[in-house]
Amino acid sequence: MSESGPMVPAPFTVAGRRQETADTWTLELEPLAEEGLTFAPGQFTMLSAFGAGEVPISISGDPTAGGPLVHTVRAVGLATRAICDAPAGSVLGVRGPFGRPWPVGELGDVDVLVVAGGIGLAPLRPAILSLLARRDGHGRLLLLYGGRSPDQLLYAGELEGWRERGLELEVTVDSAGPQWLGHVGVVPRLIAHTGFDPESTIALLCGPEVMMRFTVTALAAGGLATDRVYVSMERNMQCGIGHCGHCQLGPTLLCRDGPVYAWSELESWLAIREL
Ligand SMILES: Cc1cc2nc3c(=O)[nH]c(=O)nc-3n(C[C@H](O)[C@H](O)[C@H](O)COP(=O)(O)OP(=O)(O)OC[C@H]3O[C@@H](n4cnc5c(N)ncnc54)[C@H](O)[C@@H]3O)c2cc1C
Repeated sequence: MSESGPMVPAPFTVAGRRQETADTWTLELEPLAEEGLTFAPGQFTMLSAFGAGEVPISISGDPTAGGPLVHTVRAVGLATRAICDAPAGSVLGVRGPFGRPWPVGELGDVDVLVVAGGIGLAPLRPAILSLLARRDGHGRLLLLYGGRSPDQLLYAGELEGWRERGLELEVTVDSAGPQWLGHVGVVPRLIAHTGFDPESTIALLCGPEVMMRFTVTALAAGGLATDRVYVSMERNMQCGIGHCGHCQLGPTLLCRDGPVYAWSELESWLAIREL
């Protein structure tokens, strides 16, 4: 957190950039003035490109490794485009980290089922890396990852390495050419084939809201209670510290109380259309 307070962005320089897909970049940021940030998996920063805007972006780096602040950003509008275009050596603004993290430090000896859709793998990457770093501390670790097409998959160069370190991995795409030998179809369809044990499993989900809803339904059909399912929610956010109210969902402010929630905390509010 900036010494000047949570509303003042700290300057970070772009130390490295890697293109993940046609519209998505992973940026490594180094602080110009202050110590680097420490964060917990699932937290986000308010990241700004000067003159373009400030947006919430999850931290996608390895919490066990130290080093630069890592963000994976999909260019969808003015601010995210400017952030993705920021050349090496340029300066971005960072506030945070903010938000309630994934409960990966408190899980104990359970199986962990991670379900990600598209850019949703970015907020889950720190949780996966943290769980892989203490692989012997829990039971099965599974990742079900869905993308629109093979060329839309994030961290393509890392997925096999995660598998070698003990992650059970299934990847599916909505559509693909004949060279794709993996699954085709939406990610919730993979749930039934995992053989997960509802008594010993915790699920971590991030992706488009519709994907998370169908995934929760598939998990519930397999007997998993909704207080064992954690999701990271997205809403329009501006202050990041629970003051402005833009990210309100029912009685909760996502930036302050989330973005990670047990589904059981939100399900009655998410049942109300357009809330
Ligand atoms: C807690 C949190 C964590 C987030 N983490 C990440 C992350 O790690 N990486 C990342 O790339 N994004 C992340 N986002 C989403 C990101 O904040 C938005 O994409 C960003 O605010 C868009 O701002 P903009 O000015 O570029 O686009 P805008 O001008 O605000 O929007 C441009 C267009 O894109 C649409 N749009 C806005 N957001 C999205 C979206 N998420 N997906 C698809 N279309 C969208 C808008 O409806 C509009 O049509 C996160 C959001 C939250 C709340």
